Amino acid sequence: MEWIPLVKASYGLTEENELLKSLRSGHLQGDGPSTKKVHRFFEDHYKIERALFTTSCTDALELSALLLDLKPGDEVIVPSYTFVSTANAFALRGAKIVFADSRPDHPNVSMDCIRKLITPRTRAVVPVHYAGFACEMDELMKLAEQKNFIVIADAAQAIESTHQGRPTIAWGHMSTLSFHQTKNVSCGEGGMLIVNDKRFSLRAEILREKGTNRAAFFRGEVDKYNCVDMGSSYLASDLLAGVLWGQLQRLPELQSARHKIWKTYAEKLAPLADKVELPKLLPNTEHNAHCYYLVCKNLSERTRLNQFLKDRQIGATFHYISLHKSPYYGPKHDGRELPQSDRYTDGLLRLPLFPTMTDAEVNHVVDSIKAFFS
Ligand SMILES: *Cc1c(COP(=O)(O)O)cnc(C)c1O
Repeated sequence: MEWIPLVKASYGLTEENELLKSLRSGHLQGDGPSTKKVHRFFEDHYKIERALFTTSCTDALELSALLLDLKPGDEVIVPSYTFVSTANAFALRGAKIVFADSRPDHPNVSMDCIRKLITPRTRAVVPVHYAGFACEMDELMKLAEQKNFIVIADAAQAIESTHQGRPTIAWGHMSTLSFHQTKNVSCGEGGMLIVNDKRFSLRAEILREKGTNRAAFFRGEVDKYNCVDMGSSYLASDLLAGVLWGQLQRLPELQSARHKIWKTYAEKLAPLADKVELPKLLPNTEHNAHCYYLVCKNLSERTRLNQFLKDRQIGATFHYISLHKSPYYGPKHDGRELPQSDRYTDGLLRLPLFPTMTDAEVNHVVDSIKAFFS
């Protein structure tokens, strides 16, 4: 058996053709013909107010943070068990980062924990839809209304998943997607700011375009474009939008391949449920087969399992390391214990999952895990 990587993006002729179309159009800068197709796809398919293609999810988060106009002392609540950008995007704008713990039964952030952390200085809460499982957005949006804060969902992993029957990315005042090579749909590097609350639409467009009303100018709404706000450059090249548009045309094919593998893992590993924690399906959310993971009892068991799988050519990998204990955020953290975040830091192991993974490869992973626990 050859080495089985954790993830492998699948690009084919559709992506090649769309990339060439973008190149030959001569419009390589941002917001060209391919970007327009990508925007329209998201706005129509997921019924969202505004989609803005960006250079990464990190940049989409930074753009959302700019829109908040944060003042010194403003607090932003983020899970500790997440990718660094969820916190850094807001720290860059001077926010005080307040870390929330995960749920005992799922790596997603705990609503009980968030409730306890809300203060009059809370300006935003940034839930992360881990492995494409939506957080309790209905509860969180109710709380946001009562306590007057903004919800920006880090939906980097959540394309195509749903919450209460609606696309997960349509929840929150804003949400952000990633098209990094490791995600369900990718163009190498790329992201998107989804604006669900109309109040932010126009300004998001302006801040993304270096603080100018250039987009309105190109639509013929103003007769010259000018510097109307602060801002930066968050547009990605139309070449990347071409690759992404190719991927989006293959979305049903890519997703069904992923779901088939996820289901096989779930069915064949179910007998191990008393030996190792398996992903819990949550009510009110349909996941998107982004990632299949196990949660081992402790770090030592995970290290042994990881090595056992490596010896069998399987590229399983752990995931995040609690941000509240990181060299940067550790000294700034208020000292609260976040035991669930630490438990996933030590115990969680992701299994290989990508659209072109063969049945033989999936079975080899399953058999190897069973061998370890027998
Ligand atoms: C991948 C990921 C990011 C970063 O995405 P980029 O497009 O690489 O910036 C942020 N948050 C989460 C939860 C992610 O999974």
